[in-house]
Amino acid sequence: MSRKLTSEPGWTLFLDRDGVINTRIPDDYVKHPDEFEFIKGVKEALAIFSHIFNPVVVVTNQQGIGRGLMTHVQLDQIHKKMLSEVSSAGGRIDAVFYSPDLKNSRSFTRKPSVGLGLKAKKQFPSIHFRKSIMAGDTYSDILFGHRLGMLTVLIGTEKEVLSRCAGILDYSFPDLISFANYFQELE
Ligand SMILES: [Mg+2]
Repeated sequence: MSRKLTSEPGWTLFLDRDGVINTRIPDDYVKHPDEFEFIKGVKEALAIFSHIFNPVVVVTNQQGIGRGLMTHVQLDQIHKKMLSEVSSAGGRIDAVFYSPDLKNSRSFTRKPSVGLGLKAKKQFPSIHFRKSIMAGDTYSDILFGHRLGMLTVLIGTEKEVLSRCAGILDYSFPDLISFANYFQELE
């Protein structure tokens, strides 16, 4: 049975990055801050979430590093830009955790494995996975959240993804701002 979204205090929000916060680049990676483009409404959504969730963390697979297409320093620059723009818009991302590993590396940190979630809990001991939400745009994100016992939210409307997630998905919204607006209606 689906668990219920609530705006009560003490909840953590885990967010995927590409396709949720910024526009995905088809068959490529965001390798430079100039290529990082916020999806419409995301900064406003993060401003709303920052009043509801603590912490707000990003968990993202970035195998462009493992493939040698960008460096850790370049990725840090991209995330610095992301964090500063979010904060200028009144929002908050408390930490970004990423996996640089390749898809076929059997990595423990690459979603849908749970390593990034455990790293986040190590940095923020107040996190309880049963009081956490994972929002992402792929089956891998939903499986990651499900494995950790989180409430799961798919961001997107693709039928194929929705049907693959059936059974382990609690909610879906077309985009992050629709998800954020849902909380405003709860209040
Ligand atoms: Mg994604």
